[in-house]
Amino acid sequence: MDVILLSYTPEPDALVAAAARICYRDVTAGELLHGEEQKLSEGLIADLFRSGHLSTFEHVSFTFGIDGLSRVASHQLVRHRVASFSQQSQRYVKMSPDPESVVIPPSVSETPEALRLYTEAVKTSQETYRALIEAGIPKEDARFILPHGQSTRLVMTMNARELHHFFSLRLCRRAQWEIHELARKMLILCREKAPVLFGKAGPSCIYGKCNETRNCGKPYRDMEDLLFA
Ligand SMILES: Cc1cc2nc3c(=O)[nH]c(=O)nc-3n(C[C@H](O)[C@H](O)[C@H](O)COP(=O)(O)OP(=O)(O)OC[C@H]3O[C@@H](n4cnc5c(N)ncnc54)[C@H](O)[C@@H]3O)c2cc1C
Repeated sequence: MDVILLSYTPEPDALVAAAARICYRDVTAGELLHGEEQKLSEGLIADLFRSGHLSTFEHVSFTFGIDGLSRVASHQLVRHRVASFSQQSQRYVKMSPDPESVVIPPSVSETPEALRLYTEAVKTSQETYRALIEAGIPKEDARFILPHGQSTRLVMTMNARELHHFFSLRLCRRAQWEIHELARKMLILCREKAPVLFGKAGPSCIYGKCNETRNCGKPYRDMEDLLFA
């Protein structure tokens, strides 16, 4: 799976801090954005987190290009309603006959017999898809035979508040492995552009408290453990 940052709000850390400060100061937003106080944003953004004054995070958004995610994972992804999506259509785009266009879960690729069964089934489904299209069946109907693991492409935009919510859910060890991997790559990209805003992010266990009813028993030690272990 490839994840790239297509676009993002410039100066994300400074913008959130300026948005917070305008609530309490009688100066223009422009003055706040580049004022001296901006150097103190770290403490302010931590306070916003603590107090739940999170509407300030909504001024900043990030747009990602996602390639090679399975439809299994994209189905989970689009459940996040406070995000914007544009997804490759299987009605208009003919799916690749390449077996590599189907995502293989690690549990399958690591087990030779499972991999053999999986690859065979993918081949049959792709051959049937091609034969249906050759027989004049529209792509929107032929696609019903494609595997759930078929890869897809999306453009997705989330604001920083939604990103934090997304990271808290999808970076939990109990999240499905593929959406977990997507979230991991997204957080790395966000931290490069907004190190203060995303200095803290992820599931609650990393900050000492698990919110899950069924605890995995393996809390993340720190950000390094969450993103690079
Ligand atoms: C580990 C895991 C397992 C899951 N298993 C299942 C499953 O078995 N079956 C299943 O169906 N789903 C499952 N889900 C999906 C889950 O129920 C949510 O649909 C998904 O995580 C999106 O979360 P959300 O609704 O909080 O986020 P978003 O849709 O991004 O919304 C963000 C926040 O905005 C607010 N919000 C958004 N829309 C509304 C609204 N209409 N009314 C009030 N507030 C709103 C809420 O505070 C919400 O938390 C699972 C998710 C996870 C992380």
